This record gives sequence, C-alpha cells and structure tokens, in this order.
Amino acid sequence: MVQNTVNHSVKTINWERALSGCLLGTAVGDALGLSYEGLSARRAQAMFPDLARYHFLAHYGMCSDDTEHQCMVAQALLAAQHDVKRFQRDFAWRLRAWFLGLPAGIGWATLRAIIRLCVGFSPEHSGVYSAGNGPAMRSAIIGVCYGHDKPLLRQFIRANTRITHTDPQAEYAALAVAMAAWQAATLPQPNPAALLAELEPYIDSEATLWPLLQCMAKSVANGESTTTFSLSLGLEKGVTGFANHSVPVCLHAWLSQPHDYEAAVLAVIRCGGDTDTTAAIVGSIVGAAVGVGGIPEPWQADLWEYPRSRHWLQQLAQRLAQHCAGEAQQPLPLFWPAIIPRNVLFMFLVLGHGFRRLLPPY
Ligand SMILES: [Mg+2]
Repeated sequence: MVQNTVNHSVKTINWERALSGCLLGTAVGDALGLSYEGLSARRAQAMFPDLARYHFLAHYGMCSDDTEHQCMVAQALLAAQHDVKRFQRDFAWRLRAWFLGLPAGIGWATLRAIIRLCVGFSPEHSGVYSAGNGPAMRSAIIGVCYGHDKPLLRQFIRANTRITHTDPQAEYAALAVAMAAWQAATLPQPNPAALLAELEPYIDSEATLWPLLQCMAKSVANGESTTTFSLSLGLEKGVTGFANHSVPVCLHAWLSQPHDYEAAVLAVIRCGGDTDTTAAIVGSIVGAAVGVGGIPEPWQADLWEYPRSRHWLQQLAQRLAQHCAGEAQQPLPLFWPAIIPRNVLFMFLVLGHGFRRLLPPY
C-alpha cells in the first residue's frame, strides 16, 4: 500500500486513493451507463426500470472505449516520465494498437484521427476539427496527476486533446473535467464558484462553454436536479456526445453530490443519451474524491472484464501513484492476446443489444 502524499495549498492528496477511485470510478460508470447508451431517458426507464444495476450481460457489466482510453492515458503518462512530447508519442502508438484490436465503440472524430495516425500523420497533426467528448472522457486521470502544476496540466491536456480533436471547445471541456477531478481529490467541499475561479484564466470567455458553465453553477446553487438542468439545455432526447453538452451536465451531477458516487452517476444516467461516456466522466471525478471504498462494492464485483480487470486497474493506479510521488515506473503489462477474443465477444453483445432495441417496450 503506497501512502504517497504531497503538500498542496488546500490539503494533502493521497494519490493512490484518488487515482484508484478515478480509474475504478470510470470503469464502473462506463459499464453501468453502457446498456442505456443512445436511448432517451423515457425509453431507458421503460426497457430497464432498475437503472441501479448492470444489464449488459445478465447482471454483469463490461466497459467500453471510455475506460480503455482512460487506461491508455494512464499508461502513456507512466511511459512519458513527465515529458509532454513523450506522452503524445506514446499515446499515439497506444491509439494505433487499440484500433488494431477491433474495438466495438469508437467516436467518429477519434476514428478519423486514428486512421490519420495509421497512414503516417504525426500526433501533432492527426486531430480533426471536432468538439466531441473523446478528450473529456480521458482527462480526469491527467487532472489528478498534474492538477498541482496548472501550466503543465494545460500542456498535457492540450497534447491529449489535439491528437484526436482540434476544436478549442474540446480542449476547454477536457480541461474542465481535469480541473474538476483535481478539485474532487483535494477540496473537502467542492463547489461551482471554486471550479469557475480555477477555470477562468484558461477558458476564453467568448467560448460557448463558458456561459454554459455559468448556467450550470447557477443551477447547482438553486438546487435544481441534473435532469432539469439537462432539459434546460434542450437535451430532451438525451445528452449528446458534443462536449459542450456532456461536460456541463457531468459537472452538474458531480457538484450536486460531490461525495455520493451512486447518486451522481445515476443522476447523469437518468438524463439519457451518451450515458456510458457521461457516467464514466462523472464516475472518474467522484471516484477521485471518494476512492474505491466509496464506489458500491456490488458494482465493482459485477464488473466482468479481462484483461483490464478490476485487479489490473488497481495495479495501474498504484503504479501511477508511485510515478506521481517521483518514483520512476514503467507502464503495466497487459495480457494483450486476450484483447481480440474479448472484443469479438463484446461486439456480439453490443449487436445483441442493438437487435433487442427493435423490440418493445418503446
Ligand atoms: Mg463508450
């Protein structure tokens, strides 16, 4: 058990607790939200009245690209040894290798960027103009590792974003998630004013995200539910994969219940739409606050994943915690021969869910 801590102006951070909560929180949120992805809130309720358990493979849950990308970022941070250029190069190789493993779920911008990487574009030029939520779904882990050094955090977030997405909105949204994860891990009582104060120097006030974050802050202060806030953004059919939609809704769910993993994740799943990604983002932030012990044990136990198992995720978090504390560490070996069989099974299950949706209840 590593008890590495660093003095921070607010309080000390226990990296092992925050990082393991962040990684497990991502995986559990992703797996929980996966069965409802793309459904409206009304249809999700009709098909699966009990939202508070997995419905993917009987009562077991599996993870999608959100968890895989968060893990790849963690591995690339280990390989980079605090060097942003090395991080970008290593992450680019991991994206290419991930693509060769036939992943079932992949965002449109991420797909185009990886194809560009595969045909020889450098990681500085592989990104496409998009403000999808891909970078936001893999930035909480960077926030926990580098939130104590804001200029370096910003460089890592920029490198992590531009490899797939070049619209500045995607970068602002990713930075907001990273900063949220850092505050979750370090502030005893996170609040919208503290988050906005930290983000203000880094987000262009002319950018669409800024007024949306201000509306989010007001809505949290007024005690509105996350569903009410989501509807106020016009997201009746569910939260979209556009970062300016998903990130304000996720931050609302976190700030409304910053220490209650279950309530925060279910609040965002109830909004419908891109639920695996939104629940993964909220799970990564609240997980950084509550640690693994704050994530419901049955949800952790019913994760049915290999080779990125619950045990493997905890080992990865532990290694990254040692890295943050200044110990040189290497990426954690992953039993890669299992990836293609696992992904083929996963693809069949996703197809099964797709066909199931053709049937009632509508
Ligand atoms: Mg996904």
